[in-house]
Amino acid sequence: MTQAIKRPFDVNAIRDDFPILNQQVNGHPLVYFDNAATSQKPEVVIEAMNRYYRETNSNVHRGAHALSDRATGEFEAARDQVRKFLNAPSREEIIWVRGTTEGINLVAQSYGRSNLKTGDEIIVSQLEHHSNIVPWQILAQQTGANLKVIPINEQVELDMAAFKSLLTENTRIVAVNHASNAMGTINPIKEITRLAHEAGAIVVVDGAQGAPHLEVDVQDLDCDFYAFSGHKVFGPTGIGALYGRKELLDAMPPYQSGGEMIERVSFSGTTFNELPFKFEAGTPAIAESIGLGAALNYLEQFDKAQLKAHEDQLLQTALKLSADVVGLKLIGKAPDKVSVFSFVVDGLHPSDMGTLLDQQGIAVRTGHHCAQPLMEYLGIPGTSRASFAFYNTVDEVEKLFAALQKIVKLFR
Ligand code: PMP
Repeated sequence: MTQAIKRPFDVNAIRDDFPILNQQVNGHPLVYFDNAATSQKPEVVIEAMNRYYRETNSNVHRGAHALSDRATGEFEAARDQVRKFLNAPSREEIIWVRGTTEGINLVAQSYGRSNLKTGDEIIVSQLEHHSNIVPWQILAQQTGANLKVIPINEQVELDMAAFKSLLTENTRIVAVNHASNAMGTINPIKEITRLAHEAGAIVVVDGAQGAPHLEVDVQDLDCDFYAFSGHKVFGPTGIGALYGRKELLDAMPPYQSGGEMIERVSFSGTTFNELPFKFEAGTPAIAESIGLGAALNYLEQFDKAQLKAHEDQLLQTALKLSADVVGLKLIGKAPDKVSVFSFVVDGLHPSDMGTLLDQQGIAVRTGHHCAQPLMEYLGIPGTSRASFAFYNTVDEVEKLFAALQKIVKLFR
């Protein structure tokens, strides 16, 4: 198979693709370091959605007219794009959802409620986003299952020895993230799926932070479900996808019901549509799906390893410069990380830090990052988090640290 020629990595040319980056905030050029919360959109994504509304807008699947045919074609082509992005075996295994949160809720309520019973066990980790905790807590309450938690070590990595000892013959579901939003830690999903499968459990991967930074191959990972959000992979909000293994999806009951997900409805009984439509009740987010397809198409021009290498360079620069900031403590020291730099500074509350950086045009996120159990475990109220994307530059990282030096001097 011939390898398509990739676009050479040129950060300045890439920045020109993202119109929002070129602006002043509080009198300074914007430095956008809140990419783990949501990433910016290239012009091609904005334009794909505009074009759809200008030229194609119509409902999908049912129309007996040209616009509907075109809308359906574009919408389903975007699903193919997602299949390719995840290297899923088939397009039937790609379910449109609003995002990671909805994907995980779908698995919990559809797979979970129909497969779990009292005494069964669900394993999550100390390192999870609330989206990968609360749906399992609710499922545990509904079914009488027990929730167990994989502890972390000092570097904020999963304690794999402890994970092995948590697995029992009662374990049904293991739900972990590919990469942590709060600390950046990359989790060993392949090893987790191997161990979980040996124990007879399925694995649900929260891919919200994996999809933007890592090569995702659901066949290689061998996971059973993988959920991600469009808005974190340079696509729009309101759309994401759930990959599920076909034999599991086939056996699962619908999650939501109504139009689109049925084959035939009568008052004596209803039959459901085939995959993936069985899980897609109601008019879908058509423009958003097309926007996400455009984002994945945009990403495909690049060698993902090159993007990751650039992000790693940004993180290494941050780690190096942070050593010179008095009172700064890096939180989460896993050697294998996506480009998330989470930190606290002695005597400065993270929310004050956020405001002070914003005054200098630097956007970071502060607080618990929807990972309160992790913060509680670490004994801190929260952190300041700079999360980098491939359109960020070393110069911007240097600006962050120049600003931090100023702030620390002011408060010393
Ligand atoms: N999991 C992780 C690791 C996340 O970072 C996020 C978003 N911050 C989510 C789940 C939830 O994603 P969404 O809000 O797009 O559904």
